[in-house]
Amino acid sequence: MASTVDTKRYWIWTVGCQMNKVDSDRVAETMRARGYIPAEREEDADIVVLNSCAVRESAERRVSGKLGNLQQLKQDRPETLLVLTGCSVSPDFEATRKRFKGADIYFQPTRLDQFTEALDKVWPLPSDPGIMACWQEQSGDTEEQGPCAYVPISNGCDKLCTYCIVPYRRGREKSRPVFDIVEECGSLVKRGVKEITLVGQRVNAYGRDFKDGTDLADLLTLVHDIPDLVRLRFLTSYPKDMSDKLIETVAGLDKVCEHIHLPVQSGSNAVLENMRRGYSREDYLALAQRIRRAAPNLALSTDIIVGFPGETEEQYAETLSLLEEVRFSTVYVAAYSPRPGTLAHRWEDDVPKEVKKERLQRLDALQQRISMEQHQMLKHQVTEVLIDSAQSERKDLPQWRGRTRQNRLVFVPRGDQDLLGQTVTVRIEKVSPFAMQGAVA
Ligand code: SAH
Repeated sequence: MASTVDTKRYWIWTVGCQMNKVDSDRVAETMRARGYIPAEREEDADIVVLNSCAVRESAERRVSGKLGNLQQLKQDRPETLLVLTGCSVSPDFEATRKRFKGADIYFQPTRLDQFTEALDKVWPLPSDPGIMACWQEQSGDTEEQGPCAYVPISNGCDKLCTYCIVPYRRGREKSRPVFDIVEECGSLVKRGVKEITLVGQRVNAYGRDFKDGTDLADLLTLVHDIPDLVRLRFLTSYPKDMSDKLIETVAGLDKVCEHIHLPVQSGSNAVLENMRRGYSREDYLALAQRIRRAAPNLALSTDIIVGFPGETEEQYAETLSLLEEVRFSTVYVAAYSPRPGTLAHRWEDDVPKEVKKERLQRLDALQQRISMEQHQMLKHQVTEVLIDSAQSERKDLPQWRGRTRQNRLVFVPRGDQDLLGQTVTVRIEKVSPFAMQGAVA
């Protein structure tokens, strides 16, 4: 039995989507529960957890690079534990170990039990409950909670889009019980959280696995009732699962913000079919119209893949024209990269790299123009902004950073007043395609 309490320090490195951020919070929580405390710097940590992303090849390259860099730390202090989790870890641990050499522990993002089991072997918890209590006291719950929080409501994905690795790494869709979610949201709000974003890979299919009719609209209504909650959002919606009930709920509930992230991926029916998205360009346009009719002020953002196998110049042009037609607020664009295990991986990746790059740039330029036009319209207007951090756009100017209900980024000058977590009215003065600047009105 350990006679002295030696406190382990952890460091977590995260890449990828909101789901990964949420998972990293869970990993941190698990380690704090064991008495570990956050390290001030990566070099000081006894355990470094890399939370990886596998959605694109470039993301995986970053993960390999990071793991490579950490070997130096491991050489200097061999007792340091390196842990790899996230979507790069497949259920086949041997394959993962070969592909990502140099970690001591591997665990799947949905399987914290694998993590604690491995930790138990290396650093067993003391069997004396007295010592454990002392550990917990030392660690406490010191992690700062900002005004905005992500709450996972489902994990995994049951769709099999031909390009996507997510179902192979996160498994089948599983919804969290309503009670757990509402309780977590309530306790976050008690700790000062103003804005909650409910997250899931296919968030608007929430509850389908309960088979009792419970859906995202019901959940939104319940979370909406939490007093002192100011704003409510949800990510990421799958177009085919956007029910009229959900649209009406979004339009009807005050706290639910006027923004939906709705990945379209392509504007060409042939490409959409090859992606197995299950909707056509016309379906998507009709849906966008339905949403805007119910909530005229709502901003739609989206994801696009360019250079999917077989994508012709004409098909790509249809994506550009879709952007013109829908006028998204933000577009996240990626060049297609084949992911092992997916159906499209078996097809020839036949759009040359330079062509993909050029398509990506042209699309980016178009969207910048559209975003700029939208921001210009907001100039001299007042808009509600929730201040989420003391983060400047420019180094030489202290600013607060916040978002409008439409999720547009706004910066305001930082004066003496503490505006963190406050909802303020801002008059927009200057705009760029990516953000707006203004003064508190
Ligand atoms: N559930 C989301 C997808 C999550 S992955 C959906 O319904 O689309 C996040 C984004 O990464 C996707 O929207 C897609 O634009 C991009 N992406 C996924 N797989 C990709 C691949 N193989 N190559 C390039 N981009 C990819």
